Amino acid sequence: NHAAHSPAPLAATDLNLDPYWMPFTHNRYFKTKRPMDRLLASAKGAYYTTVEGQQLFDCLSGLWCSSLGHGHPKIVEAVKRQLDIADYVPAFQVASPESFRLAERLADVAPADLNRVFFTNSGSEAVDTSLKIALAYHRLRGEASRTRFIGREKGYHGVGFGGISVGGMVANRKMFAPAMIPGVDHLPHTHNLKEMAFSRGQPAWGAHLADDLERIVALHDASTIAAVIVEPMQGSVGVVVPPVDYLNRLRAICDKHGILLIFDEVICGFGRMGDWFGAQAFGVVPDLITFAKCVNNGTVPMGGVIARQGIYDTFMTGPEHMVELFHGYTYSAHPLAVAAAHATLDILHEEEVPKRFGALGRQIEEAAHSLKGEPNVIDIRNCGAAAAVELSPLPGQPGLRGLRLFEEGLKRGMLLRFTGDTIAMAPPVVTTPDELHRMIEAVRASIRAVA
Ligand code: PLP
Repeated sequence: NHAAHSPAPLAATDLNLDPYWMPFTHNRYFKTKRPMDRLLASAKGAYYTTVEGQQLFDCLSGLWCSSLGHGHPKIVEAVKRQLDIADYVPAFQVASPESFRLAERLADVAPADLNRVFFTNSGSEAVDTSLKIALAYHRLRGEASRTRFIGREKGYHGVGFGGISVGGMVANRKMFAPAMIPGVDHLPHTHNLKEMAFSRGQPAWGAHLADDLERIVALHDASTIAAVIVEPMQGSVGVVVPPVDYLNRLRAICDKHGILLIFDEVICGFGRMGDWFGAQAFGVVPDLITFAKCVNNGTVPMGGVIARQGIYDTFMTGPEHMVELFHGYTYSAHPLAVAAAHATLDILHEEEVPKRFGALGRQIEEAAHSLKGEPNVIDIRNCGAAAAVELSPLPGQPGLRGLRLFEEGLKRGMLLRFTGDTIAMAPPVVTTPDELHRMIEAVRASIRAVA
């Protein structure tokens, strides 16, 4: 069935690889190698098909965004239909009714009184938007001195200047240091192999690391701090799981000092954690949630921020004819993205996707931890329907073993995702026990091949 959709095979010389400057990619390696095995021509369900016709199992659901698998007929149909209804509606001063309906539906699944939704086109834009809202909120409340943001080491919050400033990935930061937001401080990361290697689910050790926020408050004074931003579960750095009680403690310290807590749920949102958001999965209510990716199964770019009603209300003062927040994007609530999101939410509800991810997560935990004892495996982590396997680096060449493992995976029909020497797995919700088994055994064979 799928083969019928696949384009004709491409010869190695058919494509000019030079003009496309690939994002987050080793361009020279890719282009000189002309790797036909990673030119993806089509996608259906849990599989990509390369230009050579090889099927690759989608071990990370695209980039964490295609959690239902590819080409879901209801989403495809909704987007096609929307193109005929309205291809574009301006985002400022007018709106399509469907954007209001979507905001209402998102408010319904968000925790507590987070019920005001601002739309963006990506996770990076969602993060920068949340930081702007936090700054403006404090200013409007007469606390304009609250300008500092607290991020976390190893955090990933996209690639905007705001996101890299609060983020804690050195490769994203060092090049752009002069242009970063001043006055940002960072919590310590919670990834500690000595204390928590091979933990299943949330590590028992590490809640005290949240108390470092008290130290940071004592250093800068609470009156200078606007917000703390963390990913409930850190995905991009390789499934770093919050220690038991860690997020609660952050919440309590933020409350004590009038600091907003932002959960960057770009990866955690829409089911992956076994609930609608990480907030519910971990039982902690933030003040702002950022989302993107799975809101519409990665089909049309969309992100956004969900705010507590009190935050929104703070903005709703001043003359009624005035714009309250000077911020927005041409494509905020783009009709195609909105249509895709409605269809996605239908499916998430009807097919109880968060619950099913919870069940898949338990299978992933068992399967992933069976890799303990394989050569060079120094940690295995899991959370919700996601797991990561960390390998020790080749001496003096961090990242090379990860790259080789990725290439071994391709040979075995697996599209793996690696960051450094860690591979992350977060397959689509449609993954069968047999597919999960094949994925883990292919990872096992690949780990042995790069030993
Ligand atoms: N925030 C988090 C937690 C992410 O994981 C990502 C992307 O992986 C982003 C933000 C950035 O999203 P985007 O690539 O859509 O800008």
